[in-house]
Amino acid sequence: MGLRVAVVGSGPAGSSAAEILAKAGIETYLFERKLDNAKPCGGAIPLCMVDEFDIPLEIIDRQVRKMKMISPSNIEVNIGQTLKDDEYIGMCRREVLDGYLRDRAAKLGANLINGTVYQLDIPNNDKDPYTLHYADHSNGSVQGDKKTLKVDLVIGADGANSRIAKAIDAGDYNYAIAFQERIRLPQDKMQYYEELAEMYVGDDVSPDFYAWVFPKYDHVAVGTGTMKVNKAIIKDLQAGIRNRAARKLEGGEIIKVEAHPIPEHPRPRPIRGRVVLVGDALGTVTKSSGEGIYFAAKSGRMCAETIVEASNSGQKVPTEGDLKAFLKNWNKTYGATYLVLDILQRVFYRSDATREAFVEMCADIDVQKLTFDSYLYKTVVPANPLKQMKITAKTIGSLLRGNALAP
Ligand SMILES: Cc1cc2nc3c(=O)[nH]c(=O)nc-3n(C[C@H](O)[C@H](O)[C@H](O)COP(=O)(O)OP(=O)(O)OC[C@H]3O[C@@H](n4cnc5c(N)ncnc54)[C@H](O)[C@@H]3O)c2cc1C
Repeated sequence: MGLRVAVVGSGPAGSSAAEILAKAGIETYLFERKLDNAKPCGGAIPLCMVDEFDIPLEIIDRQVRKMKMISPSNIEVNIGQTLKDDEYIGMCRREVLDGYLRDRAAKLGANLINGTVYQLDIPNNDKDPYTLHYADHSNGSVQGDKKTLKVDLVIGADGANSRIAKAIDAGDYNYAIAFQERIRLPQDKMQYYEELAEMYVGDDVSPDFYAWVFPKYDHVAVGTGTMKVNKAIIKDLQAGIRNRAARKLEGGEIIKVEAHPIPEHPRPRPIRGRVVLVGDALGTVTKSSGEGIYFAAKSGRMCAETIVEASNSGQKVPTEGDLKAFLKNWNKTYGATYLVLDILQRVFYRSDATREAFVEMCADIDVQKLTFDSYLYKTVVPANPLKQMKITAKTIGSLLRGNALAP
């Protein structure tokens, strides 16, 4: 009998994993508790995701070519001048993007099950199958029919509140909480955000992150995030961003309010036996930018590729050691990116003085080019050494001018 794999959760991580497994002819079960799930999210994706994951243009609501960074004292810096005509940041509705990726995986042969997995029985040897207990909602009921499925390997792609992570005692991570309001604007106000996204920094909008106004297809998403997980604080911060953008949001009508955790770093034990976590369940969101969609999809894909290879396209069951190759490869590919973004967050989101310095620095064309290239293409483009030195000097200059390095 060939390898049987269950992928729990069909966000970008799960569907991307299921697609690779199904393409290799592996018996794949993709679980999703809510087929019309609209994951609370800004929905911004880098250009390389469109390319690497073959995302059709109709899935992208808006192609953002201008980004405004707004400092605590409301100094606005336009970034995006270095973008070429065919370069943009994609803005999606998650229900549309996730639906597309999920359906594609199913078309390629993954068995899509509309069910909530609520329990995972772990065998006490490395041969017997895992048993998934789930509520099958295919009859339309929320409660669902209780069913079980036996598989040889489980991918936990069930997001920040992962049940699979709990089942394997993967350990906790620190998380930020992000809050977002979807606001429908009068047409003249919406025009302003046609191709434009805004990022605000300041103690009033977030003590350790940024707040945003991102355009969606017929509304804007206005939100903020913080690691200070406290309901009262998050409400004040949301009032802060609403206040800062008040003039531009005038006459807007709130159509949806949402909140969700954002993992800060990977879980300590993401693999146990033949169970492996990917995406938010693992903890793949970057610091500074809070970007998670691409990294979720990429981790799902890389994990599945490891399984295809180790199982010889489903001929044998991979071991825990085989699965660990995925994490090793992941850290090798993205370790430096995570480190740099972590340092950036620590240096620049520290105080209003460092944030002023950060925004000032963003006005520099070389900095913009480097930042956009690394965001859009996920390759830290090695600038020539002279340019690199110039950027470093400018960074330090900005920090000194803002007196940001004072203790
Ligand atoms: C407010 C906010 C704004 C953000 N903005 C951005 C942004 O602009 N750009 C960006 O790149 N990232 C952004 N992120 C991060 C991004 O949303 C996540 O990193 C990304 O969704 C992770 O994808 P995933 O597939 O790992 O998990 P998820 O997207 O959380 O998907 C998990 C899936 O599993 C399903 N599921 C869960 N439990 C079960 C179960 N027991 N049984 C069956 N199914 C289950 C869920 O219904 C869901 O479909 C934002 C996050 C937040 C909270």
